[in-house]
Amino acid sequence: MSPIAPIVHPIEPTLHPTEPLLQVAGLAVSYGRIRAVDGIDLAVEPGRIVSLVGSNGAGKTTTLMALSGLLPLASGRIRFAGEDITALAPELRVARGIAHVPERRRVFAGMSVRENLVLGAYARGDAVDIASDLDRMVALFPRLGERMAQLAGTLSGGEQQMLAIARGLMSRPSLLIMDEPTMGLAPQMIDLILDTVLEIRKQGMTVLLVEQNAVEAMRLSDHVYIMRLGRIVHEDSGANIDPERVKSFYLGADS
Ligand code: ATP
Repeated sequence: MSPIAPIVHPIEPTLHPTEPLLQVAGLAVSYGRIRAVDGIDLAVEPGRIVSLVGSNGAGKTTTLMALSGLLPLASGRIRFAGEDITALAPELRVARGIAHVPERRRVFAGMSVRENLVLGAYARGDAVDIASDLDRMVALFPRLGERMAQLAGTLSGGEQQMLAIARGLMSRPSLLIMDEPTMGLAPQMIDLILDTVLEIRKQGMTVLLVEQNAVEAMRLSDHVYIMRLGRIVHEDSGANIDPERVKSFYLGADS
């Protein structure tokens, strides 16, 4: 991948040196009487890739949606870049530097690649210098550069995922939240997307990743949280985590 200048968010976080970029305490989310996330604590240090893994229905997507303000909390607090954002509206969280690339790569199918990207820039509130941000996205994903005028709905699944990530990056986030970016992709495309996650970190961003493929997530991540039935059941550095142990957590034999 060609070297590109780091993306600088308009609001640079002013963190105490020991404070995580994102800190979550006692987060709980309910759907009616169903408690999908049951009081979890998370810390994401700046410049790291942190993964949330776990079996279907563990509460991973619900957690990410609560972090970006798309679901109300039943209880808990969220701090980001030194500020309590628990009550902040989703668009203000984007303006603060949180971008969420949702599950199933939702792009605006009837709009071109370029239009999708430009919309991503407007999400940050000061849409100046869009041209250089577009150049950065093309450097990161040359395939998007060849398809700027193409309708997003006609892109392949992998290309739509690239576009979804690039649209998130257009808001110049300091934290990129990604929900299952490799879901349903061919192996080669999975490698490309995961390499991009590493490149994004190299450019100075922090990544919180939900990934079904726990082995890939462990390989990539500085820190891994394992979720089951709405709770964090285990956490460790990506290098230390034992795949056999992870398997047992998935199967529910060890919680
Ligand atoms: P997957 O890996 O399958 O996407 P997940 O870990 O992301 O799973 P969530 O999608 O967060 O899990 O779901 C957690 C729990 O909340 C599940 O039991 C799910 O059925 C339930 N749930 C999710 N969305 C809703 C909803 N809109 N209404 C009611 N229950 C929901």
